[in-house]
Amino acid sequence: MPLNLRIPGPTPVPDEVLAEMGRPMINHRGPEFASILGDCTEGLKFVFQTKNDVIFYPSSGSGTLESMVVNTLSPGDRVLGISIGSFGKRFAEIARRFGADVTPLDFEWGLGAEPDVVRDKLRAEGPFKAVLVTHNETSTGVTNDVRALADVIKPTGALMLVDAVSSLGGIDIQTDNWGLDCVGAGSQKELMCPPGLGFVAVSKDAWEAHKSATMPRFYWDWTNCMAYQKRGENPYTPPVSLYFALRKSLQLMEQEGLQNIFRRHEELAAYTRQGMAELGLKPFSPPRWASTVVSAAYTPEGISPKQIQKVLEDKYEVTIAIGQEHLVDKIIRIGHMGYVKKEDLAECLACLREALIELGHKVPAGATA
Ligand SMILES: *Cc1c(COP(=O)(O)O)cnc(C)c1O
Repeated sequence: MPLNLRIPGPTPVPDEVLAEMGRPMINHRGPEFASILGDCTEGLKFVFQTKNDVIFYPSSGSGTLESMVVNTLSPGDRVLGISIGSFGKRFAEIARRFGADVTPLDFEWGLGAEPDVVRDKLRAEGPFKAVLVTHNETSTGVTNDVRALADVIKPTGALMLVDAVSSLGGIDIQTDNWGLDCVGAGSQKELMCPPGLGFVAVSKDAWEAHKSATMPRFYWDWTNCMAYQKRGENPYTPPVSLYFALRKSLQLMEQEGLQNIFRRHEELAAYTRQGMAELGLKPFSPPRWASTVVSAAYTPEGISPKQIQKVLEDKYEVTIAIGQEHLVDKIIRIGHMGYVKKEDLAECLACLREALIELGHKVPAGATA
């Protein structure tokens, strides 16, 4: 039986998509590759819900964050870095390293960014050239209300740069309708592909900012990337096998339909949260903020996340995630991203129940998992 991989990325990959990875190599500067790149571009525009350009990189998700920063900003530009967890901190740190003047706006881990607080900050300390936002904060299992944030950010004229690495293709994100300038994502979370491809959707305003942005860049340079993509190539040798895989996974996503995908994740999240609560695990965030793609909960007094993780892995071949940074000894996280169905989570919760009992936890009576 395959490992029940319940971490928030990389996520399980359907067999049809994995099989694509075994195809023979082709010329990355030939017509077949151009056609695949075209299909992947169209498929991603569908998932990004955009008509904007989509730029591809052989990179992990973090590369796309760097790409957004270095292509739209200049050293000294004022940037508001909204952070609700470790990925928000990373985004702000990238901007800082390249010389942006970053004003941090940190919210308590486990909660989302309050649009009213963001509005007040923009009024009190603006104007900013750009605002950095994490859509789904994977480290805490919290989803920001990007639409409400766009409503307060866009009228100030700031560019909105969005980390959608763990949400694109799982949680609704309407790039064009909400006016998001840059949205970055990776192949290994919601898109049912192995890791290694990154994408950024780039608005007209972001292209405009790009023209005068002077942060140093070579590999990430949009002008260069787009010049090649327009003729069906990437500037540098692309991970051809991943493109084969992505084309297939995007086909599967179009067949299922975006709304159905979002609904499936909502149902699975509700099921997982309820299952964890019945086992006596306190949710890490209130329902208003809880993510539909990864669920976090406190571990019981005296039982560490690492212990639970180890028993699950050694005895049941179920792999879950634990907290990051100061949450490492406090929470567990169960991923329900991408290619996942209820049975996978039922098995995960049943094994979690056994592991907790084995570690001395008194599971409340009536727990169904
Ligand atoms: C996974 C993740 C990243 C980083 O992606 P890598 O592929 O590991 O570089 C960034 N932001 C969020 C929200 C993520 O979930």
